[in-house]
Amino acid sequence: MDLLTLTIGKQKNIALIAHDSKKHALIDWCEANKEILKCHFLCGTGTTARMITDATGLPVKGYNSGPLGGDQQIGAKIVEGRVDFIVFFSDPLAAQPHDPDVKALLRIAQVYDIPIANNKATADFLITSPLMSSEYEHNVINFHQNIKERAGSL
Ligand code: PGA
Repeated sequence: MDLLTLTIGKQKNIALIAHDSKKHALIDWCEANKEILKCHFLCGTGTTARMITDATGLPVKGYNSGPLGGDQQIGAKIVEGRVDFIVFFSDPLAAQPHDPDVKALLRIAQVYDIPIANNKATADFLITSPLMSSEYEHNVINFHQNIKERAGSL
């Protein structure tokens, strides 16, 4: 398969998302890692973003609330190369009305080889990685080539 090399810059575009029962855990995590997070661009689903900013003072650009399409907006940013790192404290014990959107976000993060932490331990390992302060090259499917081949062969 034809691959394209993309670079995750030194300054990451980090999306922060938490389901309701995990919001305070994510706020505490952001507070604990504030000095590192300050060095990156932060965004998140609406309520999560607002609560993190209110509690920590970190600037977090807010998209729509998750159940109203916020996860889909963040997924679209991944496709556009504008989000390249995700911390998503999801709730494994509660059904979500927007479960299909959550699955879609996880899937598209996997397609684009985006680092994504779904619990605190993973987030701790990611945030302390030396790669947080350096560029990282990774390979994703060459979508232009993929379209060209499909259009020519179907
Ligand atoms: P919220 O959305 O930050 O607006 O609560 C998060 C989610 O439930 O996906």
